Amino acid sequence: RDPNVKKPDWLRQRAPQGERYDEVKDSLSRLKLNTVCEEAQCPNIGECWNGGGDGIATATIMVLGDTCTRGCRFCAVKTSRNPAPPDPLEPQNTAQAIASWGVDYIVLTSVDRDDLPDGGSGHFAQTVQAMKQLKPEIMVECLTSDFRGDLTAVETLVHSGLDVFAHNIETVKRLQRIVRDPRAGYEQSLSVLKHAKISKEGMITKSSIMLGLGESDDELKEAMADLRAIDVDILTLGQYLQMAVIWHYLALGNSDVAEIAQPTPLHLTVKEYVTPEKFAFWKEYGESIGFRYVASGPLVRSSYRAGELFVKTMIR
Ligand code: SF4
Ligand code: SF4
Repeated sequence: RDPNVKKPDWLRQRAPQGERYDEVKDSLSRLKLNTVCEEAQCPNIGECWNGGGDGIATATIMVLGDTCTRGCRFCAVKTSRNPAPPDPLEPQNTAQAIASWGVDYIVLTSVDRDDLPDGGSGHFAQTVQAMKQLKPEIMVECLTSDFRGDLTAVETLVHSGLDVFAHNIETVKRLQRIVRDPRAGYEQSLSVLKHAKISKEGMITKSSIMLGLGESDDELKEAMADLRAIDVDILTLGQYLQMAVIWHYLALGNSDVAEIAQPTPLHLTVKEYVTPEKFAFWKEYGESIGFRYVASGPLVRSSYRAGELFVKTMIR
């Protein structure tokens, strides 16, 4: 991090607790499921697994392996041009484990798989279908790559039975080239979100932006307007944390891990710690321009309390 920017107290991690959290954690130990929540030591695990006031427990699961074909500068995931092929049994095995677990809302995410002809969309879709078959009441959000702009791959996933299609633009237009892998891009991401929205009536779409990378207020307003112009329903805004334990688009951060990690020149520095008050301002602003729900806060991540957000969005 930039040595001139001091880490504020509001990024201290909270210890997870709660009855539902304990239940979910206990039942997980029997199953062969790796959650992003635990592996990334996500600071929100208590809130997400407890399910908050609505009692809707959310967890994030990663499919398609742990090695990405891209290399975004905010992400510390392993990269390779030729990751191992996907496990053909993963969709069924994942669905079985999730069906017997006590979680209501699953965020399914993955690394980018540019090596696969469909970018992994078929594998994602099979996993959603298997989950819905085994436990029809489960709600599923897919947090996907841009599939290199392949709109057929987007459609495959939209028609898999998922409840929310999420794809993150990550940052404002000007910073795309600096922050994301060159194969990603602002227009490409917008076209993926737009196509998901128009491919199925009533499809709920969602995106996320990290703050603290040097974006101006006007640039953030422009990005929010661009998302609204293609009718994105849900937006999450959170603080970028340098060298946090990060998986895919989540930019998850245990701020204590971020503190001790060795910064490398390849990773971006935090330019600003946005205050909780400013995050609250952005929530109000976002909802005033038509987002059905905005989650905005220093530790908010793409999948933060996603189940509660989805339900609140549907009843608004
Ligand atoms: Fe899990 Fe996402 Fe919640 Fe973190 S924010 S605990 S990764 S569901
Ligand atoms: Fe790969 Fe996603 Fe990380 Fe970029 S953010 S390197 S696409 S896993």
